[in-house]
Amino acid sequence: AAKSDGRGVHRFYDEKMLTGAQSRKRLEDDLRTALAQDQLHVAYQPVVATEDARIVGFEALVRWTHPARGAVSPAEFIPVAEECGLIESIGEWVLRTACKEAAQWPGDVRVAVNVSPIQFANPALPAIVTNALAQSGLAANRLELEITEGVFLNESDASDRMFASLKGIGVRLALDDFGTGYSSLGYLKKAPFDKIKIDQSFVRGAVVPGNRNAAIIKAIVMLAETLGMETTAEGLEVQDEIDLIRELGCSHVQGYVYGKPMDAGEAGQLLQAEGGAAKPSGFKVSRAQ
Ligand code: C2E
Ligand code: MG
Ligand code: MG
Ligand code: MG
Repeated sequence: AAKSDGRGVHRFYDEKMLTGAQSRKRLEDDLRTALAQDQLHVAYQPVVATEDARIVGFEALVRWTHPARGAVSPAEFIPVAEECGLIESIGEWVLRTACKEAAQWPGDVRVAVNVSPIQFANPALPAIVTNALAQSGLAANRLELEITEGVFLNESDASDRMFASLKGIGVRLALDDFGTGYSSLGYLKKAPFDKIKIDQSFVRGAVVPGNRNAAIIKAIVMLAETLGMETTAEGLEVQDEIDLIRELGCSHVQGYVYGKPMDAGEAGQLLQAEGGAAKPSGFKVSRAQ
């Protein structure tokens, strides 16, 4: 438990001694403070074209440096933010920041921003997106919104309208984490996605002999191609995975082997250094985190 919660006294964290509800409440309180006190930043991970290993964009990933705990994973705090309503303001902050920072990069690479199903259900989202683009000067076709299958849980006319109005703005839409949820083909038929992102859990097992993941990835790629969608394989860590994913025909790849999430300045430098020259496939663009 916290040794002291007195003002000005550093809280001592021993999560094991807190009940689940207590530590969740504390995370929620701390997250509120984080937003107000600039503890969040955005990291950018390269997305690379399989064909020529060039960087075509970056995925924006929110980062939180907690004053006492250090880095807290978005996998831990995003679900909390979604439950307590903070995801609206965090999501909008990430969107604005990513557009602003990407607008400073050389060239015309894209930036992909994760959008929670809760943001997607907010009728104000198109206005928020339009505003972030206008404020930053980023062209709409350089912004890609990553949406998970969670948005289909409350499938309705409202979600159809949301897809139409986002497409109307001219932003790109990607279906994130495909293969982990319901992965219904109905979603692909209905929604105007530009890209399917194949979850890393799928990529991970694919290189194991006799594993069925490779066959499934191949089928997803063929389906996507037929529907005119790109495919990004997520979480590539080793050369074997690069080789296989190329063979399976994914148009884009993303993973530590190509670059870990980095700050906006480093991303800009990387693009500057790339300067239009194609890189050999599997080229490690960065090892820094
Ligand atoms: P995601 O959108 O599927 O993002 C990909 C995650 O995989 C990122 O984790 C990234 O750092 C990680 N990753 C990339 N390459 C590799 C690899 O080669 N190996 C391994 N082991 N991991 C790799 P991260 O940044 O921890 O984010 C986790 C999840 O949190 C994201 O999954 C996304 O669902 C969510 N998230 C992150 N930022 C935001 C945000 O701004 N808004 C929302 N709503 N969700 C976010
Ligand atoms: Mg994503
Ligand atoms: Mg993903
Ligand atoms: Mg994921």
